[in-house]
Amino acid sequence: MKNLKDFEKELNKCSKCGLCESVCPLYKLVPNDCVASKGKFIMLHGVTKGDLKLSKNINKYIDICLKCGKCKEFCPSDIDVCQILSYAKSEYMRDKFCYKITKLFQSRPVFRSIIKTGQILSTLFRPKVSKQGKMQVVYFKGCVNQIFPQTDRYIHKIFKNNLNIIEPDFDCCGLPFLSEGNMERFEQAAISNLKKFTSDADCIVTDCASCKSTLLSYPKYVDDGSKIKVKTFMNWGDLIADQGMKFKSKKPVSVTFHKPCHLKSDEFFERIMSRCANISYRKMEEYDSCCGFAGSFAFKNPKLSHTMVKKKAKQIKATGADYVITTCPSCVAGLKQGLAMIGARTKVVTLLEFLATKCSVIED
Ligand code: SF4
Ligand code: SF4
Repeated sequence: MKNLKDFEKELNKCSKCGLCESVCPLYKLVPNDCVASKGKFIMLHGVTKGDLKLSKNINKYIDICLKCGKCKEFCPSDIDVCQILSYAKSEYMRDKFCYKITKLFQSRPVFRSIIKTGQILSTLFRPKVSKQGKMQVVYFKGCVNQIFPQTDRYIHKIFKNNLNIIEPDFDCCGLPFLSEGNMERFEQAAISNLKKFTSDADCIVTDCASCKSTLLSYPKYVDDGSKIKVKTFMNWGDLIADQGMKFKSKKPVSVTFHKPCHLKSDEFFERIMSRCANISYRKMEEYDSCCGFAGSFAFKNPKLSHTMVKKKAKQIKATGADYVITTCPSCVAGLKQGLAMIGARTKVVTLLEFLATKCSVIED
């Protein structure tokens, strides 16, 4: 397993140009150099050279990051802040007592038994998975959907029996382990999942932008010789758009869209909306800016998170839309929290939920 020291050369690539500061959503709220990646890299470079100790104060700045990746997108040196912060976190946590508890909770037997129990309890509420369709789809369900059965029902309602859905026994994508610096457990999940991606299916589908982005990051962390062999990697929105499906809302409604940080391309959304009758799409200001929830960030930095979720909620409210649609369970939680805080009544739904419960499929 790598150590922070292995990233010394990478950290040295930072030219201190400051471009990351101009795009970091947190730097806009807290204009402190240590909040954007430039300052974090200066501190961590000091640690790798032995000039600084990986202290509680440095850890505070490691935790002040949404892992939105905006800085990497613009960084001329293409430095991967998320990867470096995960290894720095791991090094800081290594000898902490609370880390032993986190590790126990995240260990494969404990973590998997929690998910499996949820899965068994929700079996009664799930429709039978289709095995008849011509198109073979490997479904990476993610932990939230393994416990809650609604998404299965939405998929069944939208696609009926047109897909042959295969669900290998995947582990968690590993994002919660990365956030806590539990690199051993992350690598274990990555290796286990990679082995299950060797099918000849037409595509792998996810409905969580963060799961997809984590799965695609595996080659940066582990190399066990396995390769993702399926032809395409998409989310349900891409698949619906590619199949040219048409929908009709039961009554005239207006919708807006929040783009999760980890969703690389959102062009499926406007393609789907253009084929939906009775629906008007109202694009919101900064529709692609972070909602501010970002998993454990919200618990570690509640004040900052609240400021961001409220700002996002005001932007949603300003559209006057009936629904705000997104494609990430963590964003759903953040948007609901923000809208409740400002007393707005816009309903938050995932794309699948909206299409399955508010619309009907128009058959050609
Ligand atoms: S954009 Fe990249 S190179 Fe420029 S200061 Fe930020 S981290 Fe360094
Ligand atoms: S990942 Fe996002 S929040 Fe973190 S330093 Fe980069 S731009 Fe800022």
